[in-house]
Amino acid sequence: MYAADALISQQDLPVTVDVIDKLPVPFGLVRYGVAPDHVSIRSVRDTLDKVFEKPGVRFIGGLEVGVDISVQTLHEFFDAIMFTYGASRDRRLGVPGEDLDGSVAATDFVAWYCGHPDADRATFERLIPTATSAVVVGVGNVAVDVTRVLAKTVDELTHTDMPEYVLDTLRKSLLTDIHVLGRRGPAQATYTTKELRELGELLDADIVVERADLVFDAGSEQAIANDKSIARNVEVVKEWATRRTTGKSRRIHLHFMSRPVELRGDDRVREVVVERTELDGAGGAKGTGETFVIKADLVVRSVGYRGMALPGVPFDEGQSVIPHLDGRVQLGGAPVSGQYVAGWIKRGPTGIIGTNKKDATATVAALLADANNLPAAPLPSPADFDTWLLQSGITVVDSAGWQLIDAAERALGESKGRERTTIQTTEDLLNAANAIVS
Ligand code: NAP
Repeated sequence: MYAADALISQQDLPVTVDVIDKLPVPFGLVRYGVAPDHVSIRSVRDTLDKVFEKPGVRFIGGLEVGVDISVQTLHEFFDAIMFTYGASRDRRLGVPGEDLDGSVAATDFVAWYCGHPDADRATFERLIPTATSAVVVGVGNVAVDVTRVLAKTVDELTHTDMPEYVLDTLRKSLLTDIHVLGRRGPAQATYTTKELRELGELLDADIVVERADLVFDAGSEQAIANDKSIARNVEVVKEWATRRTTGKSRRIHLHFMSRPVELRGDDRVREVVVERTELDGAGGAKGTGETFVIKADLVVRSVGYRGMALPGVPFDEGQSVIPHLDGRVQLGGAPVSGQYVAGWIKRGPTGIIGTNKKDATATVAALLADANNLPAAPLPSPADFDTWLLQSGITVVDSAGWQLIDAAERALGESKGRERTTIQTTEDLLNAANAIVS
C-alpha cells in the first residue's frame, strides 16, 4: 500500500496501480498480524485505505499470483510488477517433538486470533480450552503479542475486532502459567519496551522473572550503555525480578538463558525440556548441558517468519527473500526487467510497519528511474486485464467489493457493541462483497 501510494502520489509519470492480493481483503499483516488489542497500530489501515480513494489505484482481491495467474501472464498486462507479499511461513525450531499435537507456530496462532480465512479453527478451539500451562518460544514482539493474548482476560479483548469465535474460545481457557523462553539474555531480546511493559500491566496475570536469569556479559553492558531502548528493556525486567506475585489467576514466567531442546508427550505435547545457556562473548548463546523441564500442554513457537518463493521470480533460498539491488529484482547479477520488490520479502521479517514505508518508497524511486527504459511497445490497458479476469472465471473482489466488506464488518461489530468484528471465512467475505462466485 505504501508503494502504491508513492507511485500514485508522484507527478513525473502518469501511472495506474492494481493492488493484487490472494485474499479477498487488503492490508496483509496490518489485518492478519498486528495484535487486535493494539487498536491504535491497527488503525493504520484507515490511512492505507485512503490510497484506494486515489484515482488510478484499484484493489483486485482473491487473485493468487502463481496459482490463478502466472507472473509471466501478469507481465503481459503491466509495465512493472512489485512483489510485496511478505513472509507468510514460520521458521522451524529444529528440535525433537516439534510436530507433536499442541505444538503450534505463532504464525498460525496469530492467523487464528486475527480471523485469517485459512486459520485452523478446529485445532485452536480444541487446544486452548484444554491447556493449563503454555510455553512460548522466543522473545520478539510476536512472542510478546502471543503471550499477552493468552494471558489477558476476555474482558480485556472484547473491544477489539477479534471474531466472536476467538473470544468464545479464549473465554474457555484454563491457562494458569505461560512460560516465555529467551535463549540469550535480557540485553539481547528483540522485543520493544512499550510492548514488553504491557506484560506487566495485565488485569489478571502476574509477571515472574528470576534474578538468576538476568545475565550480562561485557557485550551486554556495552549494548546497554550505547542503546537506550536496550537499557529500558533491561530496566523493565530488573524491576519485575523484584516483584512478588499478587495472587492473580495467571502467571507469565519470563525466562532468559533458556532454550528448548526437546518437546515430549504422548498424544499431545506434555513437557518441554529446556537447556540453560550461557553467552558466548560474540553476541550469541551456547548450551551448558544443564536442563530442566517445564510442564506444558501448549507450545507456541515464535522464532520468526520465513518468505516463500513465487514461481517465475528469482529466490534466495538461504535468506528466504527475493534477491535485489535497490529494489530491482536480480537474477545472476543482472536486473530482471519490470520486476521490483519491497517489504519483508525484500529484506526479511524485521522492522515495524513504518519501516516498510521507507523501504517501498526507495523501490518506487528505482522503478521511476527505470521508467524510460521499460518496454517501448505499448502494453494492453487495465481494461484488457479486466477482460482477462472475466474470461478466466476467477471471482475477484474489487475496491467497491472491499468497501462492502468493510461496511459489513463495521455493522457486525456494531450489532455486538463493538467498533468492528472481523469476518473470517472466504465465503462470508465474498458474500459481503457481493462477489459473484462462478
Ligand atoms: P524476532 O524479533 O526476530 O524474534 C524472534 C525470536 O525468536 C528471538 O527472540 C530469537 O532469539 C528467537 N529464536 C529464533 N530462533 C530460535 C531458536 N532456534 N530457539 C530459540 N529461540 C529462537 O521476530 P518476531 O517476533 O517474529 O517479529 C518479526 C518482526 O515484526 C520484528 O521486527 C518485530 O519487531 C515486528 N513486530 C512488531 C510488533 C510491534 O511493533 N508491536 C509486533 C509484532 C511484530 P535470538 O534473538 O536469540 O535469535
